[in-house]
Amino acid sequence: MNDEQSLFGRQLPLTAGPANSSAQPAIVSVGQRKQCQRCHQWLLPTDQLPNQAWYCRQCLQLGRLTSQDKLYTIAEPNRFAQVTGPILTWPGKLSPMQGTAATAILDLVRQQRDQLLWAVTGAGKTEIVYPALAWALAQNWRVAWVSPRVDVCLELAPRLQQAFGHVPQTLLHGNQTAPYRYCQLTLCTTHQLLRFHAAFDWIIVDEVDAFPLATSPLLQTAIATAQKPTGSHLYLTATPGEQLQRQVRQKRLAVTYLPLRYHGVLLPQIAVRLIWRWRESLAKGKLAPKLVRQLQGYRRRGQRFLLFVPHVVDLKPVAQALQQAGIVGGLTVHAADDDRAAKVQAMRDQTVSFLITTTILERGVTFPDIAVVVLGGDDPVFSTAALVQIAGRVGRHHDFPTGEVTVYCHSQSRRVRLAQGMIARLNRQGKRLGGQRQ
Ligand SMILES: [Zn+2]
Repeated sequence: MNDEQSLFGRQLPLTAGPANSSAQPAIVSVGQRKQCQRCHQWLLPTDQLPNQAWYCRQCLQLGRLTSQDKLYTIAEPNRFAQVTGPILTWPGKLSPMQGTAATAILDLVRQQRDQLLWAVTGAGKTEIVYPALAWALAQNWRVAWVSPRVDVCLELAPRLQQAFGHVPQTLLHGNQTAPYRYCQLTLCTTHQLLRFHAAFDWIIVDEVDAFPLATSPLLQTAIATAQKPTGSHLYLTATPGEQLQRQVRQKRLAVTYLPLRYHGVLLPQIAVRLIWRWRESLAKGKLAPKLVRQLQGYRRRGQRFLLFVPHVVDLKPVAQALQQAGIVGGLTVHAADDDRAAKVQAMRDQTVSFLITTTILERGVTFPDIAVVVLGGDDPVFSTAALVQIAGRVGRHHDFPTGEVTVYCHSQSRRVRLAQGMIARLNRQGKRLGGQRQ
């Protein structure tokens, strides 16, 4: 690839750029303050090197940028190789409900509106975007499909490769060793967008509510900067945060809902049970009698379950208290657990009856026919989105579309109420589409 192409719609620190590139200082002074032009965050008064140069610590992981650097760019020319053959090569077919959502998204993207696809987990949201993406590529638009989670990008890459078989694509993430390629379709982590400037006519942001994007102003700025001034974006999620929901209410963001799972059964609602000072009891090796009775019942009936606890330190005492109560046959699991994958697989293989887990299992896992119990659901670690995602573990399988979700807490928290409200709202809409109650 020539030097020019590598700068199309990019902003890169170079010692010198091609003749038709433009350059700007990487760090600029705005009044008394200094701002990084790659991530648009403010420097701290202490962000200075021994040689007096200023540097940005916020985007350090993309390589150190100092006040001695310049960022080079060439305005995005949309100069792509001609696609030979059909753009959309996906062999699948959308359900009527998915098709309706896909048409709504296509209509909005034609109008270049910023939009949100709010689809329940298991609705097939990736495929719903395909018709609009095919249209955008046919317009010669440059498109990015991004996610805060690298595992989402890695999982998506082969699917997009198959669905858009003749469209050159590139995958970018922090551990990538393959060299950068100028392509019409870019799949990358949100961090990688910091290397782009006014490049994309359309940006699809997958799992928009996931950490760290949801809490990071830097990454939110990255999306705005990488998008062309004439461009637009599509957010995908099952659990939009309050900020996104506010934008929807204020009509700043168009929304397409898909409130029904593919099997047509409504989402399980969260049942709340109050337990007084469960931490004090746990310190004495005991769990609330009603929780113990519920789990004993599950074991008797052969009902498999996930028990979510707030913190890693809670796993061991909870496991011990369950053992005391005769509830055995499960394992504990957390993010840094070396045997994490094997334990999750054991649950999948049904060689264990339950897992006691932290929020790591809130997304991306499917076990058929399970119940979900949350202990300490009022702990701040369980955000509204986390609670909805956790509830969404239940009833995913076509043969077992129902199940129980129980949250035990010391007091009814706002986050729990908001999660119930979100599920109720989706179910009201799902019912209108013919969804069946559990
Ligand atoms: Zn920076």
